[in-house]
Amino acid sequence: MTTTITLRPGADAAGVRARLAALGLWVAPCVGRGGDTVAFTAAASSQAVPAHVLVDVPGVADVLAPASPHPRLDAQSGRPVVLQRGDLRVAIGGGLAPVLAAGPCSAESPEQVHRIAALAAAAGARLLRGGAYKPRTSPYAFDGHGPVALGWLREAADAHGLLLVTEVLSEADAEAVADAADLLQVGSRNMQNFALLRAIGRTGRPVLLKRGMAASLAELRASAEHLLVAGAADVVLCERGILGADPETRNTLDLGGAALLIHVDGLPVIVDPSHAAGRRDLVVPLSRAALAVGASGLLIEVHDEPGAALSDGPQALLPAGLDQVAALFAARGVAR
Ligand code: PEP
Ligand code: MN
Repeated sequence: MTTTITLRPGADAAGVRARLAALGLWVAPCVGRGGDTVAFTAAASSQAVPAHVLVDVPGVADVLAPASPHPRLDAQSGRPVVLQRGDLRVAIGGGLAPVLAAGPCSAESPEQVHRIAALAAAAGARLLRGGAYKPRTSPYAFDGHGPVALGWLREAADAHGLLLVTEVLSEADAEAVADAADLLQVGSRNMQNFALLRAIGRTGRPVLLKRGMAASLAELRASAEHLLVAGAADVVLCERGILGADPETRNTLDLGGAALLIHVDGLPVIVDPSHAAGRRDLVVPLSRAALAVGASGLLIEVHDEPGAALSDGPQALLPAGLDQVAALFAARGVAR
């Protein structure tokens, strides 16, 4: 979005420009009919500088910015998203300590979900992840056990003192998932499924919105606004990798984009290195990088028998890998 900085008549345009540059604003001059500089427009890649700081620059008359296309999302800026169930309370973002969400890709059986929930809890996770409804590229692939698996996930989360994040795949399932889960996940493939966003928003619950694998940050913010307009309590964003140039790292984990959303927009962003990398050996290093960037949390896939996993086995951390992720949180002083 372009900000326009208008100058007072007779202002020293070069001096104003230098002051703006010192604030991190890269500007282009706008000339009036007389050929003199009457305003500057700020380049999109400029740092975000509050309007009141710009107005205080000597020689500046006013600062004009287009109205935001996502006022509800902007209103979330700087504050955490709070999930609450009974005595369990988990706050995500707002500069608070990062939160770990861990679990299997798919909920495969009650026993598998319980075993992995126990591992997640022992690693300090606050949320259990796991899919009852799975979006799969192949129509022949396992696509989730459906409603019964929501029950397994809820029971396992409760048994281990965890909250639950799980995906809503269709409008018809939104209410059922809202009854079972604490945070409703929109998958990457559905980021711009606006009918689904509306149905999820109508549940009034907090949402984890995964970035589409070919979506811009502006499109991600717009989808978050769709959810909020429809009634979602709050939105947590999720960076899970975008299409890149090299299949060896599957999707490119856009930590620059995550940093912008976190530090410039002030929004909660959970980073999912599992789906970004698609391979286990990169998950711990990418987790370390995401925490260093200031991620509000990590979403990590775990399996105790990945070779037999019904989905995403190659990227699932083994219990020892999850311990390494737990150590990253401990090293940052995050209490279990
Ligand atoms: C998932 O979290 O299991 C998943 C399918 O993720 P994504 O939508 O990011 O591919
Ligand atoms: Mn998965």
